[in-house]
Amino acid sequence: MLSNDGFGMASSVFFVIPACYSFAIGRGVEELDVITVAFWVGASVLVCQALFALVFFLAAIREGERRAALLGGLQFAGLLCVAAAYLYGSTTGFYEGRAGAWVLLLVFVYGLLAYAAFVMPWGRNRRAVEGTRGHTVGEVARFDERETVFSREQLQPGTEEYAAFYAEHEEYEARDTERRKLRGLAGGPGSMDVPHEKPNRAAMAAQSLLPYLVSTPNRITPRGFIDLEGGKPVSDAAEATARVKGFARQNGADLVGVTEIDANWVYSHRGGAARRDGEEWGQEVSLDHRYAIVFATEMDVEMVAAAPHTASMVETMRNYAWGSIISTMTASYIANLGYSATGQHLSHYDVLLVPLAVDAGLGELGRHGYLMTKEFGPRLRLAAVTTDMPLVPDKPVDIGVKDFCEVCKKCAACCPSDSIPMGEAAPYNGTLRWKLDADTCHEFWGKIGSDCNICMRVCPWSHPGTLPHRLITESVSRNKVSRRFFTLMDDVFYGRNPAFKQAPRWAHFGKWDGGE
Ligand code: SF4
Ligand code: SF4
Repeated sequence: MLSNDGFGMASSVFFVIPACYSFAIGRGVEELDVITVAFWVGASVLVCQALFALVFFLAAIREGERRAALLGGLQFAGLLCVAAAYLYGSTTGFYEGRAGAWVLLLVFVYGLLAYAAFVMPWGRNRRAVEGTRGHTVGEVARFDERETVFSREQLQPGTEEYAAFYAEHEEYEARDTERRKLRGLAGGPGSMDVPHEKPNRAAMAAQSLLPYLVSTPNRITPRGFIDLEGGKPVSDAAEATARVKGFARQNGADLVGVTEIDANWVYSHRGGAARRDGEEWGQEVSLDHRYAIVFATEMDVEMVAAAPHTASMVETMRNYAWGSIISTMTASYIANLGYSATGQHLSHYDVLLVPLAVDAGLGELGRHGYLMTKEFGPRLRLAAVTTDMPLVPDKPVDIGVKDFCEVCKKCAACCPSDSIPMGEAAPYNGTLRWKLDADTCHEFWGKIGSDCNICMRVCPWSHPGTLPHRLITESVSRNKVSRRFFTLMDDVFYGRNPAFKQAPRWAHFGKWDGGE
């Protein structure tokens, strides 16, 4: 069945344009003949295609994508010629004859097929609209934060935590010891850009200050200081939701969603031995909050385009820093409205943010393990606030990610450490998903001294939010055939393994080349 917007788009192509034409030439709709309708339907399709190709071509030039611009230009020229020839035929009486009728029929059928392939909703994923519950296929054991690579990385040989952890988890010790020789998760930070890495290291050092500064207990779970003697000023869930979402957006969140917290996504024990959150490593996590407000901030396209070089990691840290600010301020806002709230950001996690973001309707999980959104693809970072404030949850979304990822596999093909599976999604800890090998991924980070981000950069959903990419995302999120088509087209126009680009001048990661 057509959705309202799908029907609207179909109507505009097949009915409104011929009808407008008919009125424009002074005849009523009842006088429209078959040839006129068929001709204008075909003209609409061909002209729309040529216009799309033009917009794509211009956007590719603006984005500095040479290959896409060249192919887009050729495509535009070809489609323009076809559309011009088609329109010219109407001035010669060509469509009055048999050959012309065949052309009209072919173009009409082509238009119908284009509608079926790019506009009509086709291939819904019922699991997706149930969020993480839809992908649950067995018992889910709560994750222990101590077992994440980040937490293991922070363990110092000779400490009590180190001995306690590896006594229980011998399986990790040899591998972690080897990785530590690479000098930590980010190796020598920026090592792949030596000897030009220091400016970007300075940027990262500055950005990492913020999550650190807001990591004390009174910042993570702030107290309100407004006098609420007359009662809480906001108690209606719909009003609270609108206010808190608006606040987060006003303060820099690009996407905001709300979910009831599924206990599966609360850590069982606390890791993060080197953090300042005042809670003991190994302590059980207990969270009384019912809701999570999840924020996403967009990562800059030009900075991510430099991945795996240091500029990309600078952008990662900028987003984590910004996430910590939004999260801390939102928690404080809620505390001042009289409710309990806890910031969830780089310096303190009680919960796993990606599954909560899926449940909050921000997007779906991609093959590479990042959240995939319609707006920015995986090119974002997350932060959250958990709270007991009554809120109205959002609904999970089906934007076609699973189907797209099943065919695409570009991130897996480009991953230098083969950490992303090529095969089908498979059960892992009770959920059906693609399981990234976090150990091999982080070993690669250690070797190059950055957080890599290649999988994020090459993902076809990461393109900038210009008109053609927005239209393509809209199309692939609703239609199965479109997903197949644009998976292939992304390889053709951008390459199967696209190269990184130099960063904006201020974050240049090579030898400084002078000039402005
Ligand atoms: S690169 Fe392709 S397979 Fe990987 S997450 Fe993006 S869309 Fe999915
Ligand atoms: S960050 Fe790099 S190494 Fe890790 S999964 Fe992505 S592409 Fe592979």
